[in-house]
Amino acid sequence: MVGAGRLRGVSDQRVVALLGVGVVPADTPILRADDLGALRGDGIFESMHVRSGRAWLLDEHLGRMAQSAARMDLALPARDRLVELAGQVLAHWPTDVEGALRLVCTRGLEDAGGAVTVFATASAVGEGLKQARRDGIAVVTASLGFPAELRRSAPWLLGGAKTLSYAVNMASQRWAQSVGADDVLWVSADGYGLEAPTSTLVWLDDSTLCTVPVNRTGILAGTTARWLLDHAESLGWTTAERMITPTGLTRTSGAWLTSSIRGVAAVRTLDGAEMPFSAEHTGRIRDLLGFA
Ligand code: PLP
Repeated sequence: MVGAGRLRGVSDQRVVALLGVGVVPADTPILRADDLGALRGDGIFESMHVRSGRAWLLDEHLGRMAQSAARMDLALPARDRLVELAGQVLAHWPTDVEGALRLVCTRGLEDAGGAVTVFATASAVGEGLKQARRDGIAVVTASLGFPAELRRSAPWLLGGAKTLSYAVNMASQRWAQSVGADDVLWVSADGYGLEAPTSTLVWLDDSTLCTVPVNRTGILAGTTARWLLDHAESLGWTTAERMITPTGLTRTSGAWLTSSIRGVAAVRTLDGAEMPFSAEHTGRIRDLLGFA
């Protein structure tokens, strides 16, 4: 860990690094105004949790980023260059501060012959996210308007790719807040719960921890949910991938939204109705995932 200092790229717990350059002062302009990432949201990113100065599940995030790049025909730089970039940021991040590391790759300039723009940032985890881990969240459903399995046969919808085009995701969360909730569960036109704008749905059915199948639905393959299901045996649970409706969720033993930075947030209400909730289950999941 290097001490704070603007010249070394650290300012107010924010670190920025550019591929091929390294850490730069955090207020350095990185993108040109005509970068396609800025003009069209044409690019991909990953967000991962920084704990004890290390990026949790870095390998999994880099694997997903490579898949996103393949789906987007984007020339993502080699893995070792991205690892080096992440390491440059982490070397400047205080080991005792919980952080969010983002890796971003945009399509770059229209006439640049495929030369991408790649940078990384680190910032502190906000208090609101920590509170959601402790207290849970109110969730409302919102329709995406297409059937659950449409994205299987519609590659142009970029199912499973973590693109920079998050305007709809952010609008969904703003809408939730405007109706007094904290987050949204996106629902397909045929009535199945899919995922949330920045997190994965998991639920407990008796002693089976379930999540929504990625391949059938084109939702993002959540790294947190995958890791949780892969380790659920240590909590005495089996696992399954299933489809479920919002009404079905109210009949489970509890539901959670999982994601890299917020970790796990219990769904306390769904469309205003109380959800089954266990503080014990929530605490055990949070501990297993290693979130404070
Ligand atoms: N679904 C969407 C649409 C997301 O943006 C995210 C966050 O990255 C997730 C699910 C959860 O994925 P992860 O656990 O890898 O953060």
